[in-house]
Amino acid sequence: MKFPYKLLTALAVASVATLGHAAYPEKAITLVVPFAAGGPTDKVARDLGEVLRKGLNNQTVLIENVGGAGGTLGAAKVAKASPDGYTFLLHHIGMATAPALYRRLPYKVLEDFEFVGMVNEVPMTLIGRPSLPANNYGELVKWLEANKGKINLANAGLGAASHLCGLLLQQSLKIDMTTVPYKGTAPAMTDLLGGQVDIMCDQTTNTTPQIAAGKVKGFAVSTLKPLSTPALAGLPTLDSQGLKGFNVSIWHGLYAPKGTPKAVVDQMNAALRMALKDPEFIKRQEALGAVVVTDARLAPAEHKKFVEAEIEKWGPAIKAAGQYAD
Ligand code: ASP
Repeated sequence: MKFPYKLLTALAVASVATLGHAAYPEKAITLVVPFAAGGPTDKVARDLGEVLRKGLNNQTVLIENVGGAGGTLGAAKVAKASPDGYTFLLHHIGMATAPALYRRLPYKVLEDFEFVGMVNEVPMTLIGRPSLPANNYGELVKWLEANKGKINLANAGLGAASHLCGLLLQQSLKIDMTTVPYKGTAPAMTDLLGGQVDIMCDQTTNTTPQIAAGKVKGFAVSTLKPLSTPALAGLPTLDSQGLKGFNVSIWHGLYAPKGTPKAVVDQMNAALRMALKDPEFIKRQEALGAVVVTDARLAPAEHKKFVEAEIEKWGPAIKAAGQYAD
């Protein structure tokens, strides 16, 4: 009789964990980031990786950037990885938007992963290249109206948070833009700074330092309430600027390949709970506009329920926009 590989690996890890032969983890853990290095998801992962170590026998958390196709390549890699407790995924809202965008998504979000817990919530900002002849949201809209057909909107591919935010922006403004996809918003930011693209919607974890330094133009925030982070406090909400109801706040969660032993998921969840109480981590996240989640949302079952609700929430809007990829 042939046993499935995933089941055999899971049994082996479970027996090690329960017999106590060796304390898990015995070696470095890989955390896959489905976007380029230096971007907002990567920054959260690297910061988190450092604090997670405390709950993981001080083992190193290695970051592997697998960017492309709006985060779906990295997620697919983890869905197919060995469930041996040494591969995890940090992903954002793209986990919930991809099912509506990809006709042939190579994984099933609710079936191919173990949900470990939520990490944080991050607002988004609408920013522009420094040479853009608009200094506030009102002037930006006039410029967009006057430049229809010539506007380049950067994003991190179909399924990225920047894609979702940009999609809603185009729908709300009724202005079509040429989207320029990157493997993450780190390389997109480089091109925005260089003036190769005009505007982008991106997480505050990436845009706060650039807005604070005056390197990019900050026009608005994507949440219903203005933000209190000093560099972003002056930015109006899109909702208050005529785009009634515009509200995109993205979130990050931790995942393991389906079949990862419960003992391992529980230990990672415990390490995550500890990490999210670390005052330095909380301070660093808040300085970039992010808010770490509180205890109830950290439970794997709550995490899964939330992602399920997000799939329901965003699916219809995305389908209505008629954007698909194979
Ligand atoms: N901010 C990117 C996005 O639009 C992802 C990244 O590069 O971290 O989803």
